[in-house]
Order: sequence, then C-alpha cells, then structure tokens
Amino acid sequence: MATTRVWRGQFKLALDEAAVRAYSVDLERISDIARRYRVSRQAVWRFLQDRGVNTGTRRVEVKCKMCHKSKEVSKRRARMQSDFFCTHACYVKWMRSSQGKAERDSRRVDREYLIRRHDLPDTAEIAFADGDSSNLRLVNLLIFKTPQEKERYERGLVVDGYLPAARVWLRVKKPREMLAA
Ligand SMILES: [Zn+2]
Repeated sequence: MATTRVWRGQFKLALDEAAVRAYSVDLERISDIARRYRVSRQAVWRFLQDRGVNTGTRRVEVKCKMCHKSKEVSKRRARMQSDFFCTHACYVKWMRSSQGKAERDSRRVDREYLIRRHDLPDTAEIAFADGDSSNLRLVNLLIFKTPQEKERYERGLVVDGYLPAARVWLRVKKPREMLAA
C-alpha cells in the first residue's frame, strides 16, 4: 500500500483492491477499513461506490455446515458467526457427527475459561495449532479475536493470534502443509 498525504499527523494509505476484498469478501466494517487505512469512513464509502461495490446490501450468502445448502444472513451475523446451518435438523445431525462432537467438547472445556483468564473479547475463537481438536494442552491453543479472524487463519492468511501459553499476541499464519487441500 502506497502512502499519500499526511492526515492528522499520520500517513493516509491509498485505498486499493485489498480494501474492496476486505469489504465484500471478508465482510469487514467500513469503519474498520477506514481505521486501517487511516482515512475517513466517507472516503472508504466513496471508494467502494466508485468501484461499483453495492454498499447497500446487508445480506450475504453462507453455506450450511452440514448439507452445504446456501442461505442468506445479515452481514452482521456473518461477521459474528463462523458456522451456519440451514435447519435445526442439520444442526442436530452435525452435532451428532464425530467432527461436531470433537469441536463441541473442545469449546466447552476451554473457551469461557480462557476468555476470562486472559481477558479476551467475548467473540474470541479457538484454533488448534497442530490441527487436533482433542489436544487441549495450552501450548496447542491459538486464539483469535473473532470467528472471522479464525476463518482467515484457516484460509492461510496472516492474522493476529493470541498464544495463551506465552500470553502474547503474534502475527500468525497456518503452515502451508496444514491447509486443507
Ligand atoms: Zn443443511
């Protein structure tokens, strides 16, 4: 990203295609994008309009975790949540599957406790460094601020992750060999 002119004593960053992706694919808020690029919200909004991005759409398509059927939800909900189910029946079916069971158990054991103990946001999501959700050792846990950030990590992008064993935030990236084929 190229810097342009000085704004409130800081360098403004030029809005680019990454900002469009952040808005339309990663569903980031205009205010968050504005903060990151150090420009006004109006500037982001105008930039998106110029690129023909529909800033009026508040609904996006997600897929059911069990049957992969498409479903429409609000952007807000899509940001907050990482898993979607088209019906309660699909939810129950998935919860009873071995994968659902493993994920549910690991979440129940750690999440609430870790959030309190490490003063993390309520939206925090846990990932397993070695990919094994039954390995609940502290060193194997990686925590993200939101389900959205965890999702970005799972896709192989660089994100801020919290390592509870060391009590530090670090830029983390899922090793290429661990990315789902
Ligand atoms: Zn379904």
